[in-house]
Amino acid sequence: MHVLIVGSGISGLRLADLLSNSDITFNMIEARDRIGGRILTEIPSSDNYYDLGPTWFWPEKEPKIVKLIEELKLSTIEQYNNGQSLLELNDNKPVKFIKSSELNSYCMRIEGGINALVQAIYRRIPSLDIELNTRANAIKHNKNQTYTITAVNKLSGEVKKYDADAVVFTLPPRLLFENIDFTPELPEEVKVDLLNKPTWMGAQAKAIITYEQAFWRIDGLSGNAISWQGPLREIYDVSTPNGDSALFGFFGMTPADRSRETEASIEDKVISQLVRLFGEQARDYKAFYYKDWSQDKNTVTSGDTLNIESFPTYGQPPAYLDNVYFAGTEYDTNNGGHLEGALASAEYAFNNLTK
Ligand SMILES: Cc1cc2nc3c(=O)[nH]c(=O)nc-3n(C[C@H](O)[C@H](O)[C@H](O)COP(=O)(O)OP(=O)(O)OC[C@H]3O[C@@H](n4cnc5c(N)ncnc54)[C@H](O)[C@@H]3O)c2cc1C
Repeated sequence: MHVLIVGSGISGLRLADLLSNSDITFNMIEARDRIGGRILTEIPSSDNYYDLGPTWFWPEKEPKIVKLIEELKLSTIEQYNNGQSLLELNDNKPVKFIKSSELNSYCMRIEGGINALVQAIYRRIPSLDIELNTRANAIKHNKNQTYTITAVNKLSGEVKKYDADAVVFTLPPRLLFENIDFTPELPEEVKVDLLNKPTWMGAQAKAIITYEQAFWRIDGLSGNAISWQGPLREIYDVSTPNGDSALFGFFGMTPADRSRETEASIEDKVISQLVRLFGEQARDYKAFYYKDWSQDKNTVTSGDTLNIESFPTYGQPPAYLDNVYFAGTEYDTNNGGHLEGALASAEYAFNNLTK
């Protein structure tokens, strides 16, 4: 059997990793010019790495990622939660101190950023044939029970066709619905199901601000904060052990509000907020990194415009055709949204392909 995997996020890579120990052959196409999908680590130097996509895993609740990290011999960093955290309400009252445990449960980061996990998985699949810059746009079921996937090379414009016995799509559901033309057409209940699964974190943006020193720690603060005044809603310490210190924040501003700003004006607003919360030293930052996921057409659709406040109902859509599978974090019922869910979805596809 030959499988085409569409997408090289952690779901696609983990599926290739699992398949590499089976008799099934596979290849992969990826729309971006890089692997990793929503995993995106800014790496100014080997000691400085800042995750603009996922940052954490929760070891007490996420056994699959824990096992994988152990297998790949990656080092981890415990999320810094010492000291007090800050709560800024929307009423111009002074900032309150709260316990750090009220903001964040016990979680870990990966040394080198989450990109280290992506690269380690990639390195252990020497047989992986992956074509970057190649965006799938159609799938056709052939009379001989194979599938033909059509894709376009974004650089050359060349239209390419790939034949396979089975296909695994790892795109977020709404992107799949919007960008892939299915022949035969997807049943109505599958379309509705895909549209009802918002892209996890698709409406979010992340800012990372680096400093020479974690001055907030010296002041007895964790660096963590919740703010209803914004622009950042949640702020956390993501200092690197041997490199610079850093804070990162998720935005309270909606994608529409952000799109009316320039990156420079967002940077100004973020720094003013950090000065308000942590004092004048916050003005003396080294670097500002920003990624607005709501503008990334390889992750979101125009439907992903609202910040998701709690986990939507995720899981597999109703069945379509034999040997067409959907993997990706939004297709996992128990941990959909997280890296753990993405890994579980890859196992689900693998188990179906090998049963
Ligand atoms: C800001 C942010 C913070 C997050 N924080 C955390 C966290 O702390 N912990 C956690 O566990 N999770 C977190 N997440 C979620 C985590 O990133 C995802 O669960 C995970 O990365 C999803 O992986 P995936 O492979 O399912 O999907 P993706 O990473 O989206 O992979 C899909 C792949 O398909 C490709 N693709 C798209 N369209 C096509 C096409 N037409 N043809 C070919 N290829 C295509 C894409 O380019 C991409 O590479 C966060 C996400 C974001 C954005």
